[in-house]
Amino acid sequence: MTVHSHINSKEIEQAARDRLQERGVSIRDIADVVYLMQHPYHSSLTIDDCIESVDRVLEKREIQHAILVGVELDVLAEKELLSEPLQSLIAKDEGLFGVDETIALGAALGYGSIAVTTYGHLDKQKVGVIERLDTKEGERCHTFLDDIIGSIAANASSRIAHRYRDLLDGMTEEDLIIQDEEDRL
Ligand SMILES: [Mg+2]
Repeated sequence: MTVHSHINSKEIEQAARDRLQERGVSIRDIADVVYLMQHPYHSSLTIDDCIESVDRVLEKREIQHAILVGVELDVLAEKELLSEPLQSLIAKDEGLFGVDETIALGAALGYGSIAVTTYGHLDKQKVGVIERLDTKEGERCHTFLDDIIGSIAANASSRIAHRYRDLLDGMTEEDLIIQDEEDRL
């Protein structure tokens, strides 16, 4: 087994972004879900705000790691490379198999209760791109991806909710940029 002693963070971020693209999910797809979640609370919200929020969430290591783990398992299941019974559990998205939700929920914990409750809502309601991924299409396996996208959208939604309050409280854009940079995990 070859183990690389140092894995550059930028490489991990790029790999996570590449995996989403390879699996047919764009930042805009996720931003559309964020817009649906947050526009009822902030009428001035734009789709560009949502794209920016998704982009910031994708800078977080915990999210990148969840994407890499989840997509890898989906792809291995498509190639039938997992051992049984895990292969069948993931390939048919077995109803009682909840590890996909557990990873996605774990990745939502860093953004607080709004992220957690929004993830729960998206898990049940399957909005936008999440519904597309949840619908079985041929050889594709999205058992993990649909939940991870829900988690990213939920995090980006929570981030917007908190930023609106921060702006209302008088925080400057510079303060908010520093806040984003300090919270890298
Ligand atoms: Mg799933």
